[in-house]
Amino acid sequence: MEINPTAINSKHDRMVTNAKRPKVLIVGAGLAGLTLALLLQKANIPYEVFERAQQIKPLGSAIVLTSQTSPLIRQLGLEEEFNSLSKVLTTINVGKENRQIDFEIAVGSKDAIERFGSETRLIARPVLYDLLLRQIPKEHVHLGKKVLTTKQGGNGVLIRCSDGTEYEGDILAGADGAHSAVRQNLYAVLKEENKLPQSDGEALPFINVCLVGQTRPLTVEEYPDIEKEECQFNRVVGENKPYAWGVFTTAQRTVAYSLVEFLSMETSKEDESFSNSEWGPEAAAVMCEQVRDFPIIAGGDKKFTVGDLVDWTPKEYISKVMLEEKVFQTWGGCRTVLLGDACHKFNPSGGAGATNAMHDAVILANYIDALPDHPTTDDIEKAFLAYKNDRIQWVEDVFEQSKLFRSMVDRGIKATIVRFILKYAPAAVMKARNERQASYKPQAAFLPLDEVDPLVKAVYQPSLHAKAQARERIAQEKSASSL
Ligand SMILES: Cc1cc2nc3c(=O)[nH]c(=O)nc-3n(C[C@H](O)[C@H](O)[C@H](O)COP(=O)(O)OP(=O)(O)OC[C@H]3O[C@@H](n4cnc5c(N)ncnc54)[C@H](O)[C@@H]3O)c2cc1C
Repeated sequence: MEINPTAINSKHDRMVTNAKRPKVLIVGAGLAGLTLALLLQKANIPYEVFERAQQIKPLGSAIVLTSQTSPLIRQLGLEEEFNSLSKVLTTINVGKENRQIDFEIAVGSKDAIERFGSETRLIARPVLYDLLLRQIPKEHVHLGKKVLTTKQGGNGVLIRCSDGTEYEGDILAGADGAHSAVRQNLYAVLKEENKLPQSDGEALPFINVCLVGQTRPLTVEEYPDIEKEECQFNRVVGENKPYAWGVFTTAQRTVAYSLVEFLSMETSKEDESFSNSEWGPEAAAVMCEQVRDFPIIAGGDKKFTVGDLVDWTPKEYISKVMLEEKVFQTWGGCRTVLLGDACHKFNPSGGAGATNAMHDAVILANYIDALPDHPTTDDIEKAFLAYKNDRIQWVEDVFEQSKLFRSMVDRGIKATIVRFILKYAPAAVMKARNERQASYKPQAAFLPLDEVDPLVKAVYQPSLHAKAQARERIAQEKSASSL
């Protein structure tokens, strides 16, 4: 297909359009891309997923999902399996290097099901990943497809991969992570047209580096906390060293862990060589050696260290990554749209990256589903704008909150104040914060709505009504043109 900037103009005769739903090319099979693929599958919208990795590897640590994602998980029919694969999380313990707990942060409550509709749960990232991947027919996921360039116009989109292959579609969804090639291609065009806000043209700032991994299954002799029914989530804040680290027990009897190094400006410059490395084992070995002796809180009397976790983990499954932080202002243009880390990258201390990637996918899927058959570029652009407008306020809130959580485990006076506030915050303040967050729980408009009716009600979700509104608009256009 030759991409033609004006082949299908923004107005076409709705009386003659045939029943053709737009085909979506999804770049990136991370949690954002997979959730979107799964939703499009359910909505009967054609899609293909392109992932640069040659094979799927069990990389990463753990993901916390709160009641904000439980309606979606129930709508997808995955609740029972998800619960069996995850552990309930009620408390984050923040401790010192002497392995004593300094204070606790409540992330769940005994009446969580009644109040919020479900408990907060922690799941190993590779396990959640596998659960989603298993729901998507294999023929839709193309591995070893690194997308280099994209092109779009009035009549469609085209992607080119590093192996020389090309694919065509109607919509391009960039779910290709923090260093998104789709975003870079889109922004290059917008910049040329003077349509890119200055902040979107600036480099992605990174402040921390992080080591993540997950041990093999452990025995209670090896790790005393492993048998406890609830997830044991223990953080340690380094004293006189720019590090904080956390360990989390999983339903698979493994220990997932993440260790953050806070960079000074000088260090971050030295570390720029990593800025393009993503979630892979590169450079992990050096950092593993640097942090071996750091103490961890594992229950029991034996004094465990990070070195024990490293020794229990296959080396190829320990990753070192840069942790960038930014919310981009431009989430789409013409037929291209961004979701997940490609348009907002949070610090993982707030545990919000996966949740928000999944929320993006739900809202975006609702607006794509609401598009008329054979949509024009104009229809598509409006849908993308509505998607961003629905999401941006929540994303910006979460971004600020993630920065606060990052500060909590950082060093310096600000971090001390944040810890003080979290330690002594009145229960009512924490309750109000939890309730506001829990009220945002996006659902897919094209699946039976979740029937669980908790005390804390969901806020109005505009995308649930997008299809009905679009139908009304088209009916009006049709009746106006037949007059
Ligand atoms: C392997 C891995 C391990 C992770 N581990 C953790 C963790 O332990 N803790 C944590 O908080 N967060 C972790 N994350 C990040 C977390 O999953 C994301 O922040 C969040 O889920 C948002 O996901 P995303 O799909 O938007 O982006 P990502 O999860 O980054 O997924 C992007 C996907 O796009 C692919 N991709 C990138 N460029 C291209 C291209 N040009 N062409 C085709 N495909 C491309 C990538 O290979 C990747 O699969 C990890 C991410 C990955 C990929």
